Amino acid sequence: MKPYLSLVIPVYNEEETLLLLFDAVYQALASLSCSWEVVLVDDGSQDESLSVLKTFAEKDVEHIRVVAFRRNFGQTAAIAAGIDHSQGDVIVLMDADLQNDPADIPMLLERLDEGYDVVSGWRKDRKDNTLTRTIPSNIANGLISKVTGVHLHDYGCTLKAYRREVITGFRLYGEMHRFIPVFAHSVGAKLLEVPVRHHPRRYGVAKYGLERTVKVVLDLFTVKFLLTYSAKPIYLFGGTGIGLIGLSAFLLLFLFIRRVFFQVAVLGSPLFQMGAMFFILGFQSILMGLIAELQVRTYHESQRKPTYTVKERVNVSKE
Ligand code: UDP
Ligand code: MG
Repeated sequence: MKPYLSLVIPVYNEEETLLLLFDAVYQALASLSCSWEVVLVDDGSQDESLSVLKTFAEKDVEHIRVVAFRRNFGQTAAIAAGIDHSQGDVIVLMDADLQNDPADIPMLLERLDEGYDVVSGWRKDRKDNTLTRTIPSNIANGLISKVTGVHLHDYGCTLKAYRREVITGFRLYGEMHRFIPVFAHSVGAKLLEVPVRHHPRRYGVAKYGLERTVKVVLDLFTVKFLLTYSAKPIYLFGGTGIGLIGLSAFLLLFLFIRRVFFQVAVLGSPLFQMGAMFFILGFQSILMGLIAELQVRTYHESQRKPTYTVKERVNVSKE
C-alpha cells in the first residue's frame, strides 16, 4: 500500500537524538488521518545511528524504512536517496537533529491542501549562532531570492513539504537540496512560505561551518545557468559572442577611420590588439554555445526528458 505522506530524514552521527526524534515524529504523525511512512537515510554515520534506526525499523515494519549509505555522501545525497526510496504523494523533508520540529508537519500538510505544491518552512526565529550561521545564511538567502526570482526568506531550512510530481524531475548535486523549491518553481509549482519552529541543537554537533555559504553561492551560479539557459545555451554564449564581435568591429572601424582620414597609426595604441582579442573571444564564445547546444540535445534525448512539464491531461492518453 502506497502511503500518502513520506517523511524523509537524513541522519549523520545523530545517535543521541534519535530516540527523541522517533518520539516526536510518532507524536506528530499519529494525529494525522492520512497514511504515512518515514524514510531515514543513514549517511555513513560512524556512531551507532544505523543500529538504532534498524531497531526502530524492525519494531515498526509498516512505517519505518531505512536506507544506509556505504560512506558519508553528504546531506544532499542523503535527501536524494530518501526521495528515491519513498512512495508518498507528498514528501516532507526534515533534519534529524530536532532543530526542526515534527509538530509542524500537520500544519504544513494543511497548507499544502489549500492548493499549493510546495510549503516551505521558514525559521523566522532561528536558534543558531548569529555570526557564523544566521548572518551568512541571510546574505545567501537574499542573494538566491534575487538571482532566481523565487522569493523565500529561508532556503536553508530543511523542513518543507512538496508534492512528489514537482520535485522528481531533476537530480541534486553538491549542496543543492536548498534549491529544490527553485527547481519546483521552474516547473510551475505554486509555493507558499510559512514560519516554523526552530530549536537549538541539543545533542551532537553541527556538521557545517562558514564554508557552506561559499559552496551555496557557487551552486547558485550553476542553478541560475541551468534554469535560464539550459534549454538554449546559445542565447547566453552566442549573445556574449555577438556582443564581443560587435565591440571588436566598432574598435576596428574606429582605427580604420582614424588611419584613413586623420593619418593616425593603427598600432600607435593597444586598441588594435584589443579589437583582435575581442573578435577571437567572441568567435570562441559562439562556438562554445554551439557545443553546449549539442550537449543539451544529448541530455534531453538520452533521458527522453521533455522540454516542458504537464499539469494534467484531458481526453489524452499517454503511453
Ligand atoms: N547530515 C547528513 N550528512 C552530512 C551532514 C549532515 O545527512 O554529511 C544531516 C544531519 O544528520 C542533520 C541534517 O543533515 O539531520 C542537517 O545537519 P546539521 O544539523 O549539521 O546542519 P544545520 O542544522 O547546521 O544546517
Ligand atoms: Mg541542525
